[in-house]
Amino acid sequence: SKSNTGNHYVEKESYQMGTIISQKIYGTNAEITADKITQRLKSIEENMSVNIETSTINQINSHSGQAEVFRINSDIYNILIMAEKFSSLSDGAFDITVGPLVKEWGVFTNHPHIPSQKRIKELLKLVSYKSININREKMTFRLPVKGQMVDFGAIAKGYAADEAVKICSSNGVKSAYINLGGNVYVVGHKPDKTTWRIGIQNPRAADGKYIGILSVSDKTVVTSGDYERFFMKNGIRYHHILDPRTGYPSNSDLMSSTIVTNSSICADALSTATFVMGLKKSRELLKKLDGIDAVFITKDKKVYVSEKLKRYFTFYDESGEFTY
Ligand code: FAD
Ligand code: MG
Ligand code: MG
Repeated sequence: SKSNTGNHYVEKESYQMGTIISQKIYGTNAEITADKITQRLKSIEENMSVNIETSTINQINSHSGQAEVFRINSDIYNILIMAEKFSSLSDGAFDITVGPLVKEWGVFTNHPHIPSQKRIKELLKLVSYKSININREKMTFRLPVKGQMVDFGAIAKGYAADEAVKICSSNGVKSAYINLGGNVYVVGHKPDKTTWRIGIQNPRAADGKYIGILSVSDKTVVTSGDYERFFMKNGIRYHHILDPRTGYPSNSDLMSSTIVTNSSICADALSTATFVMGLKKSRELLKKLDGIDAVFITKDKKVYVSEKLKRYFTFYDESGEFTY
C-alpha cells in the first residue's frame, strides 16, 4: 500500500477471495475509503467462501435436505435473488447450484481429476436452480435435497465490486479503479479527466498480453474464460466453468466472454452465463437486455464486439492471430 496524501491518492493491494485485489482511489477520502473497502470485502468473503469453514455458505450447504430453513443476511439474500434471476435468464447456463460438480472436479485443488460418467450423472441430479427456496418475506433460504450446494464463485466478486463502488460514492470518491482479480470497476474518469483503459486479455498468451483495449468510465468490465483456471490431461483443457447441463467443462465456441455494463454482479453472472451459452445464444440474449455490452472471443480466434461498444474498443493484437 502506498499513498501520497498531498495528491490525495492511494494505491492498495490485498489478497482476498483467492485473488489479488487492487485499488487506486483518488480524492480527499482516498485512504479511509480504501480501508473500508478492504474491510467490506473481508466480511463478504467470510460469508461466502467455501474455503472458510465457518462461512454462512458452508452452513447453508451442510444443511441441505434438512427441514431447517436458514435466516440469511442481506448480502447472501441479494446474491441469491440475482443468481436466481440470471440462472433463469440464461436457461440454466449459469446455475447457482453447480457446487457439487465444482467440488468433484476440484479444478482449484492440488488434485483435480476427471470424474467418472456415473459420478457426474449422480451429481447432476443435485444441480437445479429451480429447486432452491428463497423466502422473500422471511429472508430465509433452503436447499431441499441432501448434498445440494450453492457456489458463489461466478457472482460474488461482482457483488463485492458493486459494494466497493457504493463505498466510493458514500465517501465522495469520484475517481477510482478497482480490480478484484480481473473483475474491474472504474469509477468516473482518471484524475487527468481521460477515460480509463482496460485491456482485454489474449486468452492464449501470457497474462497482460491483450487483443484490444476498452476506454470507458463508470463501467465494470468482467471476463470469464477457459484460460483462468484449468488442468491439462491427454492434451485436453479441463477448465473451471462447467456446463450445468452436461456436468463437464463448458465446451461452447467461446474462449472468453467479457461483459461491460454498470452493475458488476450482472456482469459477473452474465460473463459466466454467456461463456457457457456460446456466441449465437449470447448475442440473442444481449439483444433482450438493456445497457449490457460484450466482447466475445471465439475458439477460431475471432473477436466480436457489441454494436454500442465498438466506439470504445480499439483492436490491438500483438500476436497477429486474431481477427476483428
Ligand atoms: P467465473 O466465470 O465468474 O466463475 C466461475 C466459477 O463459478 C467456477 O470456478 C465455479 O466455482 C463456479 N461455476 C462454474 N460453472 C458455473 C456455472 N455454469 N454457473 C455458475 N457458477 C459456476 N479461489 C482460491 O483459489 N482460493 C480461495 O480461497 C478462494 N476464495 C474465494 C472466496 C470467494 C467469496 C469467492 C467469490 C471466490 C473465491 N475464490 C478462491 C475464487 C473462486 O474460486 C473462483 O476462482 C473465481 O470466483 C472464479 O472467477 P472467474 O471470474 O474466473 O470465473
Ligand atoms: Mg462470473
Ligand atoms: Mg471473472
